[in-house]
Amino acid sequence: MAGMLSKDTLDIENILSLNPRTSSYATLFSTAAKKQAKKHWKRNPDKSCSTCGKLQNNFDDIKHTTLSERGALREAMRCLKCADAPCQKSCPTNLDIKSFITSIANKNYYGAAKTILSDNPLGLTCGMVCPTSDLCVGGCNLYATEEGPINIGGLQQFATEVFKAMNIPQIKNPSLPPHEMMPRAYHTKIALIGAGPASISCASFLARLGYSDITIFEKQKYTGGLSTSEIPQFRLPYDAVNFEVELMKNLGVKVTHGKGLGINGMTINTLKEKGYEVVFIGIE
Ligand code: SF4
Repeated sequence: MAGMLSKDTLDIENILSLNPRTSSYATLFSTAAKKQAKKHWKRNPDKSCSTCGKLQNNFDDIKHTTLSERGALREAMRCLKCADAPCQKSCPTNLDIKSFITSIANKNYYGAAKTILSDNPLGLTCGMVCPTSDLCVGGCNLYATEEGPINIGGLQQFATEVFKAMNIPQIKNPSLPPHEMMPRAYHTKIALIGAGPASISCASFLARLGYSDITIFEKQKYTGGLSTSEIPQFRLPYDAVNFEVELMKNLGVKVTHGKGLGINGMTINTLKEKGYEVVFIGIE
């Protein structure tokens, strides 16, 4: 036909049938063959050696960090440090992403963690489990490039894990007056219900502001709420949750277990009677 650059041949179906996309037969493997192949699976009991311990409910062999130092540096160097960074605009915790990535690129891992944890007391948790592809990474200007967007969650996890290994406690703002010279409002008794991410974050920010009488009431025997009870250990180990809980406790926040609203008669009114002027309900 005049004017056409290409045209399917009339027997196109025959050509395509040489490389059919749908098999006309099933792929079969015998059970014995599958059992043999499964012996090589990492967690198969058959693979365990005589000296290895049981791996049931033990996720110690899972590698949590997504980036090595070399990988993190390479990733941080790749970041464009965009003037109007869409990654930051997409972050619900308002992290200064450009800043902490620049710190990592300069090998200032402490500075990177400080930037992250200042904006988000749950910086390690978020680095591990945040759905970044829908948030910061999804907004990255490098999304359409061959190498893909910056692994922001991985960088965040890397910096906070390095900081965690430094074992540095959190301190109160040194520019604040001594405890006894703080205005009366800062001695207000504050109760937070539930020791999950909401209360940990809220208590950390209040304590950083200088509030000194903060108590979290948690009905379970453990802290961390959903981060501890619902997210599997291989995605978010308790060690990571505990790190953030300890950072919060460094500021003097108290956690009382076995207590919560409706347990042993605890209500908002009974809390008020005990002198708690502010109650934060951090439960679902
Ligand atoms: S949008 Fe991507 S390249 Fe730009 S500053 Fe954010 S992470 Fe870096």
